[in-house]
Amino acid sequence: MGRTVVVLGGGISGLAASYYLSRAPCAPKVVLVEGSERLGGWIRSVRGPDGAVFELGPRGIRPAGALGARTLLLVSELGLDSEVLPVRGDHPAAQNRFLYVGGALHALPSGIRGLLRPSPPFSKPLFWAGLRDLTTPRGKDPDETVHSFAQRRLGSEVASLAMDSLCRGVFAGNSRELSVRSCFPSLFQAEQTHRSILLGLLLGAGRGPQLDSALIRQARAERWSQWSLRGGLETLPQALNAHLTSRGVSVLQGQPVCGLSLQAEGRWKVSLGDSSLEADHIISAIPASVLSKLLPAEAAPLARALSTITAVSVAVVNLQYRGARLPVQGFGHLVPSSEDPVILGIVYDSVAFPEQDGSSPGLRLTVMLGGSWLQTLEARGCVLSQELFQQEAEKAAATQLGLNEPPSHCLVHLHKNSIPQYTLGHWQKLESAAQFLAAQKLPLTLAGASYEGVAVNDCIESGRQAAARVLGTEPNS
Ligand SMILES: Cc1cc2nc3c(=O)[nH]c(=O)nc-3n(C[C@H](O)[C@H](O)[C@H](O)COP(=O)(O)OP(=O)(O)OC[C@H]3O[C@@H](n4cnc5c(N)ncnc54)[C@H](O)[C@@H]3O)c2cc1C
Repeated sequence: MGRTVVVLGGGISGLAASYYLSRAPCAPKVVLVEGSERLGGWIRSVRGPDGAVFELGPRGIRPAGALGARTLLLVSELGLDSEVLPVRGDHPAAQNRFLYVGGALHALPSGIRGLLRPSPPFSKPLFWAGLRDLTTPRGKDPDETVHSFAQRRLGSEVASLAMDSLCRGVFAGNSRELSVRSCFPSLFQAEQTHRSILLGLLLGAGRGPQLDSALIRQARAERWSQWSLRGGLETLPQALNAHLTSRGVSVLQGQPVCGLSLQAEGRWKVSLGDSSLEADHIISAIPASVLSKLLPAEAAPLARALSTITAVSVAVVNLQYRGARLPVQGFGHLVPSSEDPVILGIVYDSVAFPEQDGSSPGLRLTVMLGGSWLQTLEARGCVLSQELFQQEAEKAAATQLGLNEPPSHCLVHLHKNSIPQYTLGHWQKLESAAQFLAAQKLPLTLAGASYEGVAVNDCIESGRQAAARVLGTEPNS
């Protein structure tokens, strides 16, 4: 009898793991178990009354680097090339990003010339931050917070405005708590290898396997900064699901896993309420803290390590305005915590992807709310009403972008515990989990946003690597 691999979680990580397993020459029997009624996890696209696309989760995927290319290859394998909406390098959404500081929008400088010019809100040209980086010795600690790393290498303004905002934009997190080693491994590695972020990024680029396809070549030639899909990013999990079903993978939906136990022969029993599955191997692509509660007593040390990988909530408010105009054209703006503790940033969706605007001309924006403000409200057990988030979002659109008329359409979602936080020492948690799994020879492989990257590209790669480990193949092939 062939092996059975059960994949837990039908978000993009679990779907990717199942996809790469199902394509192997001697594919095992694969069962994908999703707790909710739909696949895709945080990737969710909904249509407005006029056909406009509203992304409730991710809205753009970066094509850069080996992981970006790998996802484009996947898109082509799924036959989605004609659905891709690129943001080309010469487009305002690729060139312009803003910070909202001191009650005004400031364009972030780009290119060498931009670094030499004064660029408010920074008091000096960013050239000086670069010079500081080139002359600062290598750090000695095995890990450091993003804030401390940026302050040491680039100065306190870059740390408290740019890196604080970046941590809020990517992780909805606090740069004084997040780990540079785990959140921005390329920056950490650049310092370790080349003693400088700038030198490391310049000299270290272009490594890794060079994947090739027509779509990858097009993305490179046109210098895409990101891409989406015509019907929204949820098209990707939908296409993966269709592929899996065609390959004979059992995809179970609405079946939350409620316990895992080890049987005498070293196989797993996966409990699903009133039924169960048997598995020779499990790939877990559910959040680490959820897995920690399902593991059997024999895996208590692993459960302890996983339970410390926490996640924060984000409120996503999609707004549509009829006949409104933005004061600037770009991808969007981020807001440092010193400026506004409530708003993480605003994405100008219509600028990057006007094809998704729908039939009535309207401006689509997404306001992201979270950070310490939301954490405090959650900790106090406050009632978090849709009205509260909508009011705060509309207020931000009015103050920060001058959109004073009420929106014609609005969607509000609170995504609880949606973004994992790689806090200082995250790498040690991963090491102790890996050591436990190896020492106990547990047939369990971890994948998903809880571990080594929250971006969609990272999650797909984590699923691919998990599948390669289970199959015993070389992950970089
Ligand atoms: C608001 C927001 C905006 C984002 N924007 C971007 C962006 O623009 N670009 C980008 O690259 N990334 C972005 N991200 C990050 C990225 O979307 C996520 O990190 C990624 O989708 C996570 O995928 P995952 O499969 O690892 O986890 P999830 O999506 O969390 O999937 C896990 C799945 O497991 C299921 N599950 C949980 N418990 C059980 C159980 N007991 N039994 C069975 N199933 C279970 C869940 O229902 C879920 O479907 C964003 C994230 C959010 C929240």
